Amino acid sequence: MKVIKVGGGCLRNKKTIAEILALLAERARGHIVVVSALSGITDLLIDGMKTCLLDEGAIASVVGRVKNRHMLVARHLMPAGPRLRNYTRDCNRTLTGLERLYYGLNFTREITPRIADVVASYGERLSAQLLSAAMNTNGTKATHRLPEDLGVVTDGKYGDATADVKQTEKQLRQRLRPMMKSGQVLFVPGFYGVSRDGEITTFGRGGSDYAAAVLAAASGAECLEIWKDVDGFLSADPRILPEASLIGELSYDEAAELAYFGAKILHPRTVEPLRAKRLPILIKNTLDPDGTGSRIAAGRRVSSEVVKSVAHTTDIGILKVHASGVGMRRGILGEVAAAVAADGINIKSVVTSQTSISLLLARRDVGPARRALMAMKPRPFRRLGAAETAALVAIVGEGLSRKPGIAARCFTAAAECAVNVEMIAFGPSPVALYFIVKETDLHKAVAAIHRHFFSAPQCLI
Ligand code: ASP
Ligand code: MG
Repeated sequence: MKVIKVGGGCLRNKKTIAEILALLAERARGHIVVVSALSGITDLLIDGMKTCLLDEGAIASVVGRVKNRHMLVARHLMPAGPRLRNYTRDCNRTLTGLERLYYGLNFTREITPRIADVVASYGERLSAQLLSAAMNTNGTKATHRLPEDLGVVTDGKYGDATADVKQTEKQLRQRLRPMMKSGQVLFVPGFYGVSRDGEITTFGRGGSDYAAAVLAAASGAECLEIWKDVDGFLSADPRILPEASLIGELSYDEAAELAYFGAKILHPRTVEPLRAKRLPILIKNTLDPDGTGSRIAAGRRVSSEVVKSVAHTTDIGILKVHASGVGMRRGILGEVAAAVAADGINIKSVVTSQTSISLLLARRDVGPARRALMAMKPRPFRRLGAAETAALVAIVGEGLSRKPGIAARCFTAAAECAVNVEMIAFGPSPVALYFIVKETDLHKAVAAIHRHFFSAPQCLI
């Protein structure tokens, strides 16, 4: 048995959804299909909370928009008749729950983390309901079950939950097995699970990949397939480098590093539950379902050039905390990190020297993090500096830390096209080397380094 995860990018409109259903009918019988919300719905639900908080009149229109998106697909896929009527009734029932939540937060004038997670979970509830109804109409037996019914157990942390795979395994053993015998397609909403106290808790944005990995690890599946509208991990972003090539095989570490900073192929936490069980992840392109895609599995496969991908992100900002004797002052890192974390800001990475601590943050977090640090009393630093127009390049590959000269080759390639490398982090991960360049230099740097490693002779520009 497999777990197949279908992302929101594949669930854009009635046409793409019809294509996915046809593919699932062919390939998903007897398997579990974990679904994301239809594309854009989670944003709509989350933004809707702010609108509905202050304006009761907006509730009907937000719920109406969510309903229309689903009904449009349903009417396209299901002929008028009892099945469509049943689906409409079920969909309305689900939406009544959503509407009540919006009224609740409008009435209390408060968006608690608890209610926010319940509201956000509706996108996946609705898509699982819609896909299973539509599939049945077309003659393939399908059903859906919610994570709370199957027992996907979490640690209860709202907006950023971690699954308890052992507990989930126990629950699934009793509740899932009987359902998998009949060869039907079982749809399960991704994105959330329930705490031991029964609280709905989401795994964070993009968390359906992780939810699918949890189900794969806990259900005894043979593998996790992630269905997307791209081939898989590439050697660079094809928007910058059209000649970027597909990476056929990756280790868990390589995939996690690439997911974290580079391409949005996979949620970075997806490998966590699978690593212990050594279950492979296969990335499949729904537009080319027989293509090879990328395979992520246990074991290290060092490629001949070592470097597998030159990834990058511009969603990075640096906050420099200037303080003397950083390396000698007990607790300073903790104090600075705690002040930033207390305001709900995530630190992506830290690079320190004796005179400063550089916090790598999402770009939008630089301002708020600066304010959080300025509010510290007493201030454990002299002054702050910020770089909001930086970009991060990540060189990823198993064997990177063991093969001499890789870093030097990267920096030579950058220097030869006059790109200044502003900061380097090498060491914390044996499979990744990060460095920061100016955003305006980014494309040049990625192209030069990629060319250097992937088409050897012309490497010197
Ligand atoms: N629908 C959720 C989100 O947009 C989870 C997911 O799609 O992975 O963040
Ligand atoms: Mg996603």
